[in-house]
Amino acid sequence: MLCLGIEGTAHTFGVGIVDSRGKVLANASKTYVPAKGGIHPRDAAQFHAANARAVLDRALEKAKISLEDVDLIAFSLGPGLGPCLRTAATAARAIAAWLRVPIIGVNHCIAHVEIGRLTEKTKDPVTLYVSGGNTQVIAFDAGRYRVFGETLDIPVGNCLDVFAREVGIPHPGGPNVERLAREGKRYIHLPYVVKGMDLSFSGLMTEAVRRHRGGADLRDLCYSLQETAFAALVEVTERAVAHTEKREVMLTGGVAANSRLREMIRLMVKEREAKFYVPPKEFCQDNGAMIAWTGLLMYRHGVRHSLTQTQVRQRFRTDEVDIIWR
Ligand code: AMP
Ligand code: MG
Repeated sequence: MLCLGIEGTAHTFGVGIVDSRGKVLANASKTYVPAKGGIHPRDAAQFHAANARAVLDRALEKAKISLEDVDLIAFSLGPGLGPCLRTAATAARAIAAWLRVPIIGVNHCIAHVEIGRLTEKTKDPVTLYVSGGNTQVIAFDAGRYRVFGETLDIPVGNCLDVFAREVGIPHPGGPNVERLAREGKRYIHLPYVVKGMDLSFSGLMTEAVRRHRGGADLRDLCYSLQETAFAALVEVTERAVAHTEKREVMLTGGVAANSRLREMIRLMVKEREAKFYVPPKEFCQDNGAMIAWTGLLMYRHGVRHSLTQTQVRQRFRTDEVDIIWR
């Protein structure tokens, strides 16, 4: 069985093709980069519409199949930006109707976990999912992926990106902050916010920008911003590991590219005598393969979605889905 997965929750439009044994035949994508400022949902959606055909063709070419060989269509149902979600859903519905094959709507955050479990062969990890749009600590318990901790305001990737933009660090924010942070020497005290098991990054971002305006050294600020934000992420992840007594930890999402974050999580995982996993970059970023694979898991375990159930859900939560395939 071949599943074609369409990802379109935010800035990336992706098409992945996966077979029922979990072999990724193709994973094509194109990412919208705003000329200035943050992502405008409508502009990103227009970008997806304009590039959908080319990305689809690239995926089919890479997989060496024709569209008629596809048995199942999966797409990102949410969470994400409304106009982007609707564009991806429209493409998915059109292809499914034309091919007369079933369609499945997939939770984007769960797809990040499932593709990591597939590529890293981890069975039951505590997952720290950190990106421009999401920050969650996720672990499986009693039939669902439970959220053990999450941001109460902005995601950590967004914190780095907005800080970068406000202080004039060129796009992309995250990697450039990381580069500057390596030259930082002095820790500048910044607000560290963990509330129960949840996190908050907006005060941290505002204060870092304020300190920049007050003349603090930019390299020291980048270093301090990373140390503060990542320490909070490690704290919540560690508590989830302690509570669930799981032996595996996975780091995924765009911010997983950060070497300092990896190092900090790795240290914590080592002290707890657990195993640490980070999927390859193409599967940490938003991608169509993770949607295709999760759609296959759902379909093979009996999930069926009617067209009316394919209405997108901007606030679709990780812990709303019954995980019948585990
Ligand atoms: P995603 O939302 O998963 O596509 O990932 C994009 C986010 O990852 C953006 O917020 C980037 O700034 C962030 N990111 C990418 N590379 C790095 C890095 N090396 N360090 C920190 N953040 C990064
Ligand atoms: Mg994502």
